[in-house]
Amino acid sequence: MRQPFVAGNWKMNGTKASIEALVAGIKAGMGAVEKAQVVVCPTFVYLDQVAGLVADSAIALGAQNLSKEQSGAYTGEVGAEMLNDFGCQYVIVGHSERRAIYGESDKLVAEKFAVARKAGMTPILCVGELLEERESGRTEEVVARQLDAVIALEGIDSLADAVIAYEPVWAIGTGKTASPEQAQEVHAFIRARVAEQSGTIAEKVQILYGGSVNGGNAKELFSMADIDGGLIGGAALKPDDFLAICTAAN
Ligand code: PEP
Repeated sequence: MRQPFVAGNWKMNGTKASIEALVAGIKAGMGAVEKAQVVVCPTFVYLDQVAGLVADSAIALGAQNLSKEQSGAYTGEVGAEMLNDFGCQYVIVGHSERRAIYGESDKLVAEKFAVARKAGMTPILCVGELLEERESGRTEEVVARQLDAVIALEGIDSLADAVIAYEPVWAIGTGKTASPEQAQEVHAFIRARVAEQSGTIAEKVQILYGGSVNGGNAKELFSMADIDGGLIGGAALKPDDFLAICTAAN
């Protein structure tokens, strides 16, 4: 039985004051979240603040990105050991915004995945197709390529301590959610791809859905056999919505 998992990706949002209020709101409703592992991923500069705010709760801390380098002359970058130092247990790698806006390749994403694991963090590996890729029937090819890049570098066993997030790019921040059936189809494909190399890891690995999940559609999505929770963007910035999603994962 896989533990449900809900992660909030706050992206480049928040102020010290708004983040304090957001965490307080989430913490106030955590009593109703019986089963899900809940993770929040603020931008780097607020990690320390959020680490302090969630310290007495069941909420875990994640980062949105990391450098593939350890330390040194890499202006503007943040390394895995620094994230660890601030109490991050999770780190998102390969979010579609990193891939599309910052040109992160499958290879770079795989390297970041490796560095995160080496530092003792659990990577949340994002995969997903663009609208034109879906429309031209290439969803599985794209998702397989993104996943295989990580397996080729780190081996299938690395997925035993990782989380995968399937995020169709056309559904992110657009209000257009994949239907539960559309999402399930790709989740089942991902699990089957992992199972080709290890049935045990395929059974174990949590696969999240991301793309315009909200309090209204989460339950139906999470009821699908291979959907183990969600990676949440916009709705993670509103405590009531985020909590509704976390309780839908119960
Ligand atoms: C995301 O950015 O990972 C995401 C799923 O965003 P949204 O929930 O806003 O679509």
